[in-house]
Amino acid sequence: MIAEAQKLLKEYYGFDSFRRGQEEIIGHILDNKNTLGIMPTGGGKSICYQIPGLILKGTAIIVSPLISLMKDQVDALETLGISATYINSSLSGEEQQNRMHKLRQGDYDFIYVASERFETNSFLYSIKQIEITFLAFDEAHCISQWGHDFRPSYRSIVSTIQNLPNIPMVMALTATATTEVVKDIQRLLSIESEAVVKTGFARENLSFHLIKGRDKHEYISDYLNKHGQESGIIYAPTRKQVDSIAHYLEGKSFSVAKYHAGLSEQKRQHEQNRFIQDEATIMVATNAFGMGIDKSNVHYVIHFALPMNIEAYYQEAGRAGRDGEPSDCILLFSGQDTHLQKFLIEQSMMDESMKSNEYKKLQSMVNYCHTDSCLQTYILHYFHDYSATEDCGRCTNCQSSGEKQNRTKEAQMVLSCVKRMDERFGAGLTAKVLKGSKDKKIKQFGFEKLSTYGLMANQTEKEITNFIHYLVAEDYLTTGDQRYPILQLTKNAEAILKGEKEIWMLREIVQQTVQTDYKEDLFERLRLLRKEMAAADKVPPYVLFSDVSLKEMSR
Ligand code: ADP
Ligand code: MG
Ligand code: ZN
Repeated sequence: MIAEAQKLLKEYYGFDSFRRGQEEIIGHILDNKNTLGIMPTGGGKSICYQIPGLILKGTAIIVSPLISLMKDQVDALETLGISATYINSSLSGEEQQNRMHKLRQGDYDFIYVASERFETNSFLYSIKQIEITFLAFDEAHCISQWGHDFRPSYRSIVSTIQNLPNIPMVMALTATATTEVVKDIQRLLSIESEAVVKTGFARENLSFHLIKGRDKHEYISDYLNKHGQESGIIYAPTRKQVDSIAHYLEGKSFSVAKYHAGLSEQKRQHEQNRFIQDEATIMVATNAFGMGIDKSNVHYVIHFALPMNIEAYYQEAGRAGRDGEPSDCILLFSGQDTHLQKFLIEQSMMDESMKSNEYKKLQSMVNYCHTDSCLQTYILHYFHDYSATEDCGRCTNCQSSGEKQNRTKEAQMVLSCVKRMDERFGAGLTAKVLKGSKDKKIKQFGFEKLSTYGLMANQTEKEITNFIHYLVAEDYLTTGDQRYPILQLTKNAEAILKGEKEIWMLREIVQQTVQTDYKEDLFERLRLLRKEMAAADKVPPYVLFSDVSLKEMSR
């Protein structure tokens, strides 16, 4: 049957060979096994369910999180001469009934639905009548509360289908590969480890860049002066920022579209189309934009602020370069961005173990911004992909002048200071002590004596703090998974303290970050963010605010 799959690949899609992972995933499905496919964004997941859907008898049901994209997928299939449709709330009641009727006649090879559809009796009634090929969960991480885009209605399908005897198998596809999510999906959908297919995560044509200590607007405008003729996406955390960046770029005569949940459905569709059809070259958007979008000629993705974790970052950045052309993934970092993400976690209704997991994931994202090793390698290791043997040679850190400073002595000072402070305090107070500050907190906690040494008095507190972050990123210190990170030594610290190992650090890494009056802005941003996510049907657990924080925000 694999031969047939190969034939269809050529016949319908015009491709000569499968990409990594595709054949294996299709093979498991053809063997009637529940299957999980994990491939990076742009890796070619759609074909993994479409080809077996064509080979096997019956109607394949595809669960997809975004209504706006179903139509595109269906149009694409219809263009190939394949019988497909979607049923969702964008259709009139009458049209929904029509399609449901045809569905019961077995007229479709593929039907796309949102997860909520499984909460309606008429749909369940309809699919009970027909022969089903399989149920495919696209963007399957939405099923797991450990995923970065959990949707309760996705999860509840799991129990619903237990009462549907005519679903012979399920498949799950995602670009998220953290251990918890994979385990959760496997457990919920009864997928054996043999049927979990994971391809390498490296994208050879992407260059990761990390920009610190520069005015963000100015950087973007410089970058676009060089690349603004090409298609690209700029992600910002709030609507307000999206509006203001779009406005700023329009003022500079760039061709801009924008997208966020504050715009009407119609306007969003319109802006999305302008971008997809290359009428506008630059899309400025919140993360409401982009899931499942297949625009192949996006050649840069710029993040205006820190994403919440590496999964989200890699997925969004991965929308660049689907056509295989060299593309840039740029993150504009300022240390202040961390506070917003922390605040979101703190105020969420997640239970403590989930919160601490989110802090841990956020810390990995922050560490990405402080490491001096290859950024691509950093990401791949995060996903437990150790298949690449060399650094990328393209990212900011690989491309830096390479001039390194021996910072072993400073590292010893920091590490011993942390030890002297009983491993009970955060980077802020530690930096003060190292600076030799006379701050009242120093007195309060009894570190006056230690502070008089002023071990690193020749540096600013900011520089010292950055260096501490670096030591965390490089795993000499750990912050645990707390709201207020407490510095503790890791087992790697010992070799440094004993002088058995040296630390050489890229000179460029220690840099100033831009200071802003954050708190004012924070509540404003949080309020908008919360509204936005609610409106976009994206209410992951971490934005379900407690009443207390709501009160504070509405002041
Ligand atoms: P994903 O869902 O994994 O992000 P898609 O299914 O949208 O990725 O596919 C991304 C792009 O890769 C599409 O343009 C698709 O046509 C192309 N593609 C998929 N499989 C192959 C293949 N075997 N050979 C060449 N191109 C492919
Ligand atoms: Mg996809
Ligand atoms: Zn690199």
